[in-house]
Amino acid sequence: MSTNNNYLEKTTYGWDNFSKIITFIGCILCLLTAYTAFLGLLMISYAFWRSRSRNTMRRIREERMFLKFLDFLFHGVHNVKRGKISLKKSILGNKRKYKRCPRCGRRILLKNSDKENMILCPKCSLRFKAK
Ligand SMILES: [Zn+2]
Repeated sequence: MSTNNNYLEKTTYGWDNFSKIITFIGCILCLLTAYTAFLGLLMISYAFWRSRSRNTMRRIREERMFLKFLDFLFHGVHNVKRGKISLKKSILGNKRKYKRCPRCGRRILLKNSDKENMILCPKCSLRFKAK
């Protein structure tokens, strides 16, 4: 029977990053309000249960899903940040690309350098602010 016990010892899953992070978050929750402490205890006991679990394949899959989720979260935040910046740029770019002359209505292509400067209309030579 000792070989069987050894086999079982080997196949308990143990502590992976998922369990460690859950325990860490659980500890933080325990330090907050009584309500979150309950949640934190649940998370810690779940982490312990995972470490004792023998269904290693499932636990590995859980960890992978968790890591994927984290990856998705970080990439999502990163993309939103980048997307917002590019969106701003494109809006500003569209706004400032052309400017109509207030007198003759001619469209004048703006350069980045004369964003705040005065523009000279090539048709009627009216000077006006680019903004
Ligand atoms: Zn003009």
